[in-house]
Amino acid sequence: MPRPILATLSTKVLTNNLHIIKKYAPKARIFTVVKGNAYGHGLKLIFQSLKLQTDGFALINIEDAILLRDQGWLGPILLLEGFFHDNELAIIDHYKLTIVVHSTWQITAIKRISITTPINIFIKLNSGMNRLGFSEDMLPSAWYQLNSLKQVKSITLMTHFAAAEKKNGVVEQMAVVNRVSSKLTGNIQRCLANSAATMWHPNTHYQLVRPGIMLYGASPSGNWDDIADSGLQPVMTLQSKLIAVQQVPAGGYIGYGRIYTKKTKKIGVVACGYADGYPRLAPTGTPVLVDGIRTHLLGSVSMDLLMVDLEHCPHAHINSQVELWGSFIKIDEIAALAGTLGYELMSALTNRVPRKLISN
Ligand SMILES: *Cc1c(COP(=O)(O)O)cnc(C)c1O
Repeated sequence: MPRPILATLSTKVLTNNLHIIKKYAPKARIFTVVKGNAYGHGLKLIFQSLKLQTDGFALINIEDAILLRDQGWLGPILLLEGFFHDNELAIIDHYKLTIVVHSTWQITAIKRISITTPINIFIKLNSGMNRLGFSEDMLPSAWYQLNSLKQVKSITLMTHFAAAEKKNGVVEQMAVVNRVSSKLTGNIQRCLANSAATMWHPNTHYQLVRPGIMLYGASPSGNWDDIADSGLQPVMTLQSKLIAVQQVPAGGYIGYGRIYTKKTKKIGVVACGYADGYPRLAPTGTPVLVDGIRTHLLGSVSMDLLMVDLEHCPHAHINSQVELWGSFIKIDEIAALAGTLGYELMSALTNRVPRKLISN
């Protein structure tokens, strides 16, 4: 018997989430974001269940783009940070990858190479986030430079929002996008929206959206309530089992740091710890589902184990099923208690946890 921890991924939920994205942005094409090993879910598995329904994939690492080509994907693959070094351009050409261009040195590099097929480019505008991209003043000239190159096939205007989960969170950045767009000629293609903008700011949709977190069924705001009525559901269930049960006497303690209990407690020991990606900062009281009953963490999370209160789970025993997060215990809730976001917990799930695709 292997260690009982497992992350199951629901194909049905994933395809339904994509369907919901299409309802939010019915006129846009969808480049599903699969960076960070598909937000920790496993790139190959997520690819397998999305390949017939998505319009394209967006990711960071060129190795991941090659993996998708090797899996047979012929459609668009967008490298969200473009290339990091000139020598990647030959690979980009060979695998026909679409690239973000965010800096002048990248334009210089593109100018210098000879390639077999002209490249589709997403030119990145820094509309206020001050992370990647050309400033409002610089972007038009970068656009016209790229537009004049025989190496370039098409140019899409791209930007990224810093606070699209807020009610007026895209207003200022959209004003920059609109001013810049007015200085460009021709039929401008735009790709602006992340998940939050896809859901809450339809004025950002244009021809292409690039949702990530909503696809996996967690909230861009970090608060599950914000997406509770959307129909989106968590794709991943992180599950394990009780591998031991203990009776702790009144005045005894539980785990590292010796968290004392006033009364006698029956506790369960779960095969899951921070070396699996469960957050060590999750405090006593963090919800855990045992045998279908919502109970909670006791004491501090160890590297390979955590302990749960069985006071209200009288039938729990060794081998009882445990859900750490999934459809009953939302990852957003665990993340909030640990002072982070679902984004981080998903993508921090370690390789020690096997992933398995399930159909329902
Ligand atoms: C990660 C990322 C996205 C997806 O963001 P979500 O909030 O997960 O939808 C979109 N665009 C860029 C540039 C990104 O880096």
